[in-house]
Amino acid sequence: MKNTKESSCPCSSGKPYSSCCGHYLDQNETAATAENLMRSRYTAYTLKREDYLLATWHSSTRPASLDLTGQPAQQWLGLTVKRHEQTAADQAIVEFAARYKINGRAHRLHEISNFVREGGLWFYVDGEIL
Ligand SMILES: [Zn+2]
Repeated sequence: MKNTKESSCPCSSGKPYSSCCGHYLDQNETAATAENLMRSRYTAYTLKREDYLLATWHSSTRPASLDLTGQPAQQWLGLTVKRHEQTAADQAIVEFAARYKINGRAHRLHEISNFVREGGLWFYVDGEIL
């Protein structure tokens, strides 16, 4: 794994991890926008941080548990955020494409995710896979 704190952030922002998603994953900072939260959740998937994913999942749709250590392993290759739209004061959508490999085969996930803000915190609600 090359996802050390010194290398560039897995969310493909081009910034170092420590000054990008590391703020949210390691320093308990609050994501100011749904896009920042979405990026940090993608990074959490690459780092297998189930705790962070569950903490940022809205209670209405959050699974009881999450296991990212299953086989075959998903190898995340990169993220492209295509659209970020705040649709109401406390609602936003983020459209993204994420690339990954399973067993050496490349796949692409294209999704529109819904986010809500409660008590000043953004949460992932659900998504529509395109
Ligand atoms: Zn990042």
